[in-house]
Amino acid sequence: MIVHRDIAYDDFANKIIACCKLKCELEDIVITYLHSCGEKQKTAPFKINDQLSLSTYLEDEPRGVLRIYMVERLVENHNLCDDQQVLNDECGRMNMNIPNEEREGNHAQDDGTGFCKDMSFKNKQELDIALKIACVKKDFRLKKVINSCSVYCVKCEHLECKWWLRAVKVENSDRFYIKKYKKMHTCGSKHFTSHNPHATAKVIGAYFKDRYPEGKSPSTKDLKNSIRIELECNVSYWKVWIGSEIAKSLVRGTHEHGYGVIDAYSHMLRTSNPGSKTALKIDENGRFKYFFVAYGAWILGFAQMRKVIAVDGTYSRSKYGGVLLSAVAQDAENHIFSVAFCIVDSECDASYRYFFEQLRSFVLDTPELCIISDKHQSIRKMISIVFPLAHYGCCMRHFGENIRNNFHNASVVYHFYKAAKAYNIDVFSDHFNRIRDLVPQAATHLECVGFHRWSRAFFPENR
Ligand SMILES: [Zn+2]
Repeated sequence: MIVHRDIAYDDFANKIIACCKLKCELEDIVITYLHSCGEKQKTAPFKINDQLSLSTYLEDEPRGVLRIYMVERLVENHNLCDDQQVLNDECGRMNMNIPNEEREGNHAQDDGTGFCKDMSFKNKQELDIALKIACVKKDFRLKKVINSCSVYCVKCEHLECKWWLRAVKVENSDRFYIKKYKKMHTCGSKHFTSHNPHATAKVIGAYFKDRYPEGKSPSTKDLKNSIRIELECNVSYWKVWIGSEIAKSLVRGTHEHGYGVIDAYSHMLRTSNPGSKTALKIDENGRFKYFFVAYGAWILGFAQMRKVIAVDGTYSRSKYGGVLLSAVAQDAENHIFSVAFCIVDSECDASYRYFFEQLRSFVLDTPELCIISDKHQSIRKMISIVFPLAHYGCCMRHFGENIRNNFHNASVVYHFYKAAKAYNIDVFSDHFNRIRDLVPQAATHLECVGFHRWSRAFFPENR
């Protein structure tokens, strides 16, 4: 085919159609070529779809081989392989190279994916994922023929196979619907490896999206087994783990999104729980620092209770770490009653100060107030600053565990609990003397900490 250097794109395309005797319209052909450097470097083919790309091609030396794809109008009578007519255009001469036509054999089998013509998808991504899940399930492999913003066309990876699907975009919408669909696989043979390249973490994530309801999520090992049984596909543990993380973020939103909506969450919380108190602190760069919550019911309930609060922190193992500080009281039936909690970066003076300052808005600083905690320096220091009138006591349970670990004597631990819980000094002395007899060092240690810190009998108020 000989053309002038200044030929218009439409004339060029029509000339190709006429020259090759193709039965199609101008819009139905896709002209591509591989740039001369691309043959060695494996770059993607360039498309000729307007005047500019055509001029670029014509000026290129040496010119790459043209490939012309037709994918639409002929499918009623022809299959895709016929449509893919490869044209060689070298030195102005053109040879047509049409693959041998192969009749559909008896071994054609339904793909069993459940897709049908006119089925529609929210967007191209959803279609792509649905196709890939079907591929992993039914063990076949896809090859993309066209992947543009308005057309998505795939065929079976097997050269001779006649399976193919073409979806197009709905105008003025993101939706894609299946326009042409040949659902019979003529490749016949099963693929023999259990490794399917379409089983990527993203596809696994989309497949397991429904397995993460509100409650507990399945373990990675269980998911790996499900893939092996349901999809007959072997996937590495690591890939399944990434897939499960993707599934979780699809269902629950990402961690980043969670931090982003704290303000909105606080508003909703206060609206639906009147009387609640929330406080969010961000640093000078606008990043999350502290978040404090006390529900209205907790505040009302605590007002009627003994003014003894236990404070502690526990580490969060999520992506961004942090510490959860909590304050609890005890109700008349010895049940634990939450008073407030706060997410902070670490257990330090600044974070405890923030926590106690928020707490002070509804917990009055009086001599009756008693705050119990482990022996963390920051807690003690900040109580003396924020709640100067309140009394501070050591948590009996934490202290008891320390004694168990340091002195390895069950009897000492037994008498320690008896002494700590004793209401009068006589009973206390009985048990304390037994500790002194058993392990004198333990008794010295208890004396150093101070009886008023851990014993009920010596505590200045009701603990
Ligand atoms: Zn096939």
